[in-house]
Amino acid sequence: MKIGFIGLGVMGAPMAASLARARHQVKGNDLRKVEVAGVAWAATPALAATDAEIVFTSLPGPQEVEALAPMLRDAMRPGAPWFDLTTNSPACVRRVHAQMKARGIPLLDAPVSGGPAGAKSGRLALWVGGEQAVYARHESVLRAIGDQPCYVGPIGAGSVAKLAHNCASFTVQTALAEIFTLGVKAGVEPLALFQALRHGATGRKRTFDRLAEQYLPGTFDPPGFALRLAHKDLSLGLALAREVGVPMQMAQLALAEFDQAMKRGWGERDSRTPMLLQNERAGVEPHVPADKLREVLG
Ligand code: NAD
Repeated sequence: MKIGFIGLGVMGAPMAASLARARHQVKGNDLRKVEVAGVAWAATPALAATDAEIVFTSLPGPQEVEALAPMLRDAMRPGAPWFDLTTNSPACVRRVHAQMKARGIPLLDAPVSGGPAGAKSGRLALWVGGEQAVYARHESVLRAIGDQPCYVGPIGAGSVAKLAHNCASFTVQTALAEIFTLGVKAGVEPLALFQALRHGATGRKRTFDRLAEQYLPGTFDPPGFALRLAHKDLSLGLALAREVGVPMQMAQLALAEFDQAMKRGWGERDSRTPMLLQNERAGVEPHVPADKLREVLG
């Protein structure tokens, strides 16, 4: 299939490479010139989209998607679908969906979950909202990107699922810094506490294992997932909660933490840096060397 892929960043580049490996003809574009194995370079988004039977975008957020929409509306073939892999706001994708529909171009929101490692290996979930028949016709193409494509519902539903998921992730992360600094300041060794917690009910679900990625070894650069993007996801999730009248106290608290971390200038650092603020307040730095963590995780 002829595919246009716009946004070849941390996630986009490996996803475009997966499509090329699956023998699709992929033309890629980004603001910066990026070389991706098997992907032909297109100098503009319009050139990537013109002949495409399907277009993918993997952009930072709603502003970039909304700004690109008029260009894609003019460049794309009517009938060819646009799958937006960006973590986006449901309101934005619904607005752009209506604009594209007038030209016969179905937009589907298809945010992904699995991080850069999942984008490379193909162990990636895609949560899709939009016309179900269009999803069904293109499911095999989506499988070239990720092993877990899932139709969630009408346009915007994929973004709602993604924001709900990421709100959970970022809220739990904020709570974990509280419980960890409490346990360590109350006298338990960080390694012993880590070992204990990971055998609890939540620990067995591997939530606590994620502490070993950045927080405990104290490695926040380069980012696996940039704080500015996590901040955007949490803001979008809370905007959605306001829209539907759901109070979210922990997520509000998490957002206040994320705001403060952004003000420290940590936007390009990893999204776990807000956990350092709790360390500062508690006056304790739970730290376990990476080799010890590897031993524990086996
Ligand atoms: P990124 O900043 O690395 O990539 C975005 C790319 O879009 C950049 O290369 C940028 O140059 C390009 N871009 C911006 N505007 C453009 C335009 N008008 N035309 C062409 N290219 C343009 O971000 P990322 O980490 O790859 O994330 C992409 C999306 O996926 C985000 O919405 C993010 O929230 C989401 N996401 C990220 C992760 C992760 O772990 N990194 C995981 C799941 C979902």
